[in-house]
Amino acid sequence: MRDANPQPVYLSEYQPPAFEVENLELDFDLAAATTEVTTRMAVRRNPQAAEPGAPLRLYGDGVELVSLTVDGAEPGEGMLEEDADGLLLHGLPEAARLEIVSRCHPEQNTALEGLYASSGNLCTQCEPEGFRRITFFPDRPDVLTTYRVRLEADRAQYPVLLANGNRVEAGELDGGRHYAVWEDPFPKPSYLFALVAGDLACQRDTFTTMSGREVALELYVEAHNADRCDHALASLKRAMRYDEEAFGREYDLDVYMIVAVDDFNMGAMENKGLNLFNAKFVLASPDTATDDDFVAIESVIAHEYFHNWSGNRVTCRDWFQLSLKEGLTVFRDQEFTTDCTLFGVKRIDDVSLLRAHQFPEDAGPLAHPVRPDHYAEINNFYTLTVYEKGAELIRMLRTLIGGETFRRGLDVYFERFDGQAVTTDDFVAVMAEVSGRDLTAFKRWYTQAGTPHVTAATAQDGSTGEFRISLGQYTPPTPGQEHKEPVVIPVRVAMLDADGRRIRGRLEGGPEQDEWVLELDRSERSFHFDELSATPQAVSWLRGFSAPVILEANQSATTLAHLLAHDDDAFSRWEAAQTLMRRAIRARIEDDAADPVLEAEIQHALAALLEDPAIEPVLLATILQLPPPRELAELFDCVDPVRLRAERDALEARLYAPLADRLRDRQPKLDDIDNGAFTADAMGQRRLRNRLLALRVAAGDESAVPEVLEQYRKARSQTMRMGALNAINDLNHEARGLLLADFERRYHDDPLVLDKYFGLQAASQVPGGFDRLEYLLQHPGFRWSNPNRVRAVLGPFMARNERHFHQADGEGYHRIAGFVEKLDRMNPQTAARLVQPLTRWRKVDPARGEQMRAELERLAALEISRDLRDVIERALADA
Ligand SMILES: [Zn+2]
Repeated sequence: MRDANPQPVYLSEYQPPAFEVENLELDFDLAAATTEVTTRMAVRRNPQAAEPGAPLRLYGDGVELVSLTVDGAEPGEGMLEEDADGLLLHGLPEAARLEIVSRCHPEQNTALEGLYASSGNLCTQCEPEGFRRITFFPDRPDVLTTYRVRLEADRAQYPVLLANGNRVEAGELDGGRHYAVWEDPFPKPSYLFALVAGDLACQRDTFTTMSGREVALELYVEAHNADRCDHALASLKRAMRYDEEAFGREYDLDVYMIVAVDDFNMGAMENKGLNLFNAKFVLASPDTATDDDFVAIESVIAHEYFHNWSGNRVTCRDWFQLSLKEGLTVFRDQEFTTDCTLFGVKRIDDVSLLRAHQFPEDAGPLAHPVRPDHYAEINNFYTLTVYEKGAELIRMLRTLIGGETFRRGLDVYFERFDGQAVTTDDFVAVMAEVSGRDLTAFKRWYTQAGTPHVTAATAQDGSTGEFRISLGQYTPPTPGQEHKEPVVIPVRVAMLDADGRRIRGRLEGGPEQDEWVLELDRSERSFHFDELSATPQAVSWLRGFSAPVILEANQSATTLAHLLAHDDDAFSRWEAAQTLMRRAIRARIEDDAADPVLEAEIQHALAALLEDPAIEPVLLATILQLPPPRELAELFDCVDPVRLRAERDALEARLYAPLADRLRDRQPKLDDIDNGAFTADAMGQRRLRNRLLALRVAAGDESAVPEVLEQYRKARSQTMRMGALNAINDLNHEARGLLLADFERRYHDDPLVLDKYFGLQAASQVPGGFDRLEYLLQHPGFRWSNPNRVRAVLGPFMARNERHFHQADGEGYHRIAGFVEKLDRMNPQTAARLVQPLTRWRKVDPARGEQMRAELERLAALEISRDLRDVIERALADA
């Protein structure tokens, strides 16, 4: 257990390191019980250091020191100081050579940070501060050096020995042991260090880079998973080609390795040349993975690959700059998925994620800027805000300065800072330089938390033909930030005429156009259009979701229906339907009565959409879905979550029951689409069939249930099988039990697929949720020490099972708090994530809120980890 009282670290107190590390050699004598590490490094005083005679800080966390020498000798009297953070070396000369022998215990490491054991293999996770659990080192991202790593281990148990870079030597040793030496020529910070020792099968491929170099691609998995690697390897090659074509970035080492690991806290890790992946984001076959899994795997493979430039070649100066690499890399992987796989609907999927998870984060007690100015535990800042909102900032920059200028700016950024550790300010400064624009005000996006609201209104002068758009903005206060400055918001707009065509016109006497980016750069601003080619019937606001804001445009239902029928921007078309549905829910909750006129209008618009032969299946499927409860909750200061879910489901049933025949008629035939093809069209057809089937069940169409059974039995792919299961998962019908029992039998020895079974059972609203939860936690396939299993059960229980998690007597909260307490002793990072739904206690009705708060206070009174305490203290702080 680490120290209980989180001590905040402040960006304003950043100091350059006192010493540079000129080179590093690590010798590992690997064994699961005890691993001995010999660390040799040449250090030299950093001319940039603030204090000339400062000591050398070597961080260490739970590492046993065996010996330490300075230039071959024991340190003199008073030179070596041990404290809670590791070691301090006082009175070092200008340059010195250190040799440290230390020990760590991988098998006992359940936190999964540093060096640990997973399924009999040894592996590492060092970002952000795991390296200090392996050896004593200046473990901070602005200390870059070259690594030479020698791994020695038992050959039979660990036939494969991997580290970063290129393998330069390997051989046999006495006593059944062997070794390998790896050199990484590119200086890197310690968080990018990785090693793997294990008994793994290797799938190989090659990639020829744009300059004609051949790179070996190696994917390491457990032998029984060797037939599930094709998609990951194909995704990697697509990503490598895309980074060359879209961003001009070429791979730099001779080999690129990916290792799939069963026990992993995060999705994957971009260690230089040796990515470690949660097996969930590598292994796939049509029988075991859904289309969504295939897309997620391709996206995570690409994300980690893209980090080779945005993160590894140019890295972060300190952890406050995390979004420098993550926001930029999420932006890059979103572009990749948009251009190569999902096209227009990718943007909608990303906006849904942002609204359901990042907006609530930004409006709650854990709100923080994309570049925070302080933290108590950096593990807790791997957030949707840093990643997803960070990516939105990059996208807005591109919108503001234009695609070509932005691309030129990226080239300058990568070339100028190659091999350096820099800041988000450095990044924005390059974009300002290449565009010639002052981006000072834009930088508020990095330092202000909270989601801005944008108000929009229009006015038309019939006599002059002039059309005016007025925009305003305000950002509600967030913890520690009472007053907010205006930010620069690019609002992309178009206007549609009575036939749904785009209108042409001039903005402020500018060139004739049919789409504009309005820059709202102060509290309020008006924009004048003239010479319009027709009278606007509807304004298409925030096209492509051009900024991460909440728009308040007050459009009539008729206007929204017009946009839903005609808008050529996929996001705006979807948004029109979402706005209508949000309005209907709001009426139900706030006025305690349905709005039959509004609901009839929505139904009419949806019916027309179902008859539209031109709409793409994937877009139709996406538009027909109601907003998720988690997103709807943001419409209210606080709301009874059980009632909100019930009202949403009831609205869904009211809207779609009269449309049941149309839903059925529009359903693609199972035999035509269940072909396992990884193409946008095939995935769109499958998404549509599964959505329509689920809507029919939700609308009470009894003829849909036999079709669900038939689809499950005939399905050749996991996508269609899960489509059937999802459709009836909330239906209290014997068919549900039959199908789930069959699914469990079929996949009981396949952990990744079994996770889907766990998720379905945990999320179901069918009565008996606590018995099912208990059954899952006792299941032979469940392990508390595996984050995937824990997340598969407890994640859906809290996110989608409102009926049980929010049960009025507080049973759900009490159980979750108990699980958090138990998990915190093993894996603080996962516990600190698991507790987060309880931190939203102010957003639910006061009776429930009080129960949630009481559970948090009970946890706070215990001896808990720093990770968990940091989250709970922020959640309990005065608003
Ligand atoms: Zn990343």
